[in-house]
Amino acid sequence: EAKGQGRNRSASFNWSLKERFNRLHEIETGLRRALSGGELNLMFQPIVDLNSGHIEACEALLRWEHPVLGPIPPSEFIPIAENMGLIEAMTGWVLRRACEVAAQWPEHVRVAINISPASLKSPELPGNVIAALLETGVSARRLELEVTESIFLDDSGQTNAILRELQRIGLRLALDDFGTGYSSLAYLRSYRFDTLKVDQSFMAGVSANAEDRAIVKAIGSLARDLSMDTVAEGIETVDQLGHAREAGFTNVQGYLFSRPVPADQIADMIAAGPLQGTGRPDPAIKSR
Ligand code: C2E
Ligand code: MG
Ligand code: MG
Ligand code: MG
Repeated sequence: EAKGQGRNRSASFNWSLKERFNRLHEIETGLRRALSGGELNLMFQPIVDLNSGHIEACEALLRWEHPVLGPIPPSEFIPIAENMGLIEAMTGWVLRRACEVAAQWPEHVRVAINISPASLKSPELPGNVIAALLETGVSARRLELEVTESIFLDDSGQTNAILRELQRIGLRLALDDFGTGYSSLAYLRSYRFDTLKVDQSFMAGVSANAEDRAIVKAIGSLARDLSMDTVAEGIETVDQLGHAREAGFTNVQGYLFSRPVPADQIADMIAAGPLQGTGRPDPAIKSR
């Protein structure tokens, strides 16, 4: 009996490994095709002024619809693209497409894109950024690059040089998922980030945990004293919005205001004026 169980266990272990291998293989071969074909898409999520509800920026979020596997989350395919050396091409595509879309918006609305640590080591990045801006006519100050704390693990000096080059061009820099990575307050001193985005795990906890509230408040006052904008990510409820306001955040982003939407919808949303997340939560979310 014990033997039978062991065999079953090892059989299912092998099967799941095989399945994972097959999926990885499908993703790897699919990525090259996706980059040259029309399988990649950008969605846009509004980043809203906390007081007025005005859309100040929209974050571009990459989507991939695999013809067989269906939608694959960026958290799965981006690390694979990095390993395959495809991240440059992918970042280039995102930059270009995001600027194309943002070129249709009013001048005061910025576009934010996520840049993975591998891209920030590439000397090609500043040139790709300049090309995307020139080709679309978007001004540098309307483009914000979101980077995570893990970029500071690179001690070769490459990332440092590229970040400074990007700032010289006039781009805005945001520190994304703040508080979850290799946070060192020294980084806030040596780079002048324009925006701090507090990780959504803290906002998820503010209603229930005094600890999360304390952390969010501390980050809010630190950022204010350093004259940085602050975005509370992952705002889903009116209660969370209240905590973001209490902590002195300047901006909010989350399902309470809008999910990420396609390019044509975000243009309509911007044209329609301030979002009403403050007073009128999406009923679908309120009832959760
Ligand atoms: P991120 O930059 O922190 O993006 C925020 C994520 O939270 C997005 O997930 C967004 O859809 C989700 N989100 C927004 N509001 C809410 C909310 O109220 N509740 C909840 N539960 N989630 C919310 P997504 O699109 O799956 O992206 C995941 C991560 O993948 C991003 O985290 C970013 O690190 C990465 N990513 C996305 N697009 C790109 C890209 O073009 N390039 C690179 N390098 N990374 C990307
Ligand atoms: Mg503002
Ligand atoms: Mg982001
Ligand atoms: Mg984030």
